[in-house]
Amino acid sequence: MFLNDDLLEFIAEEHVCPHCDTAMTPCQTPTLNVGDGLGWGSPVFMICLNNECGLYKKSWQEFEDNYGHVASCRYMLLPGAKKGEPIMVGSCDAYTGCIIDVEEEKLRNKRKQAEDAAVKDLDTCIAKRNLTPVILLILDEKAHLEKRQRACALLDELNDLECVDPIRNHEFKHTEIGQLANMAVDRILKANNLKECPFCAEIIKTRARVCKHCNREM
Ligand SMILES: [Zn+2]
Ligand SMILES: [Zn+2]
Repeated sequence: MFLNDDLLEFIAEEHVCPHCDTAMTPCQTPTLNVGDGLGWGSPVFMICLNNECGLYKKSWQEFEDNYGHVASCRYMLLPGAKKGEPIMVGSCDAYTGCIIDVEEEKLRNKRKQAEDAAVKDLDTCIAKRNLTPVILLILDEKAHLEKRQRACALLDELNDLECVDPIRNHEFKHTEIGQLANMAVDRILKANNLKECPFCAEIIKTRARVCKHCNREM
């Protein structure tokens, strides 16, 4: 699930249930209900999950009296709606499995926005000599695989030695990306007549006999 800024703002805001004055809980729309005629029209909603809520407490009796079955109502609010409405629940656990972790959602949103911006910047990164979006995508294990491959393919042309450390120090979860990136680093070092000291891993000239960083002989 990816929530845009408006939806994120909606679930991060405090919404108070008018039946019990308690803060409502953000929930993800259950997929089972999509297309069942309820017309959620939103991937998220707020719900009052307070078991002491007046609406919830009195509705058990009403359902039994009017329809003869075990159910109650909770107060729910959809994004953009001025007023909430009651939604039927069969047990006190209903919707508790759909609760959204707002902070987690914010982080997810932030990561996705950074990825999208970096993908956009790939088009101009060679002209602008901009390594930043390339490295961001290569190191972001959650980024789209094809975009990461494309970023790896741009490393040689960028020929920027700043890429060496972040790539060498990253623990790649995706083996293929790790290989592509590290092989590009090998080529970039070679193209610049450089190598990594086998003892301290600092970058030195290919021809160096003694490492200027750790003073050890090659
Ligand atoms: Zn309530
Ligand atoms: Zn060294």
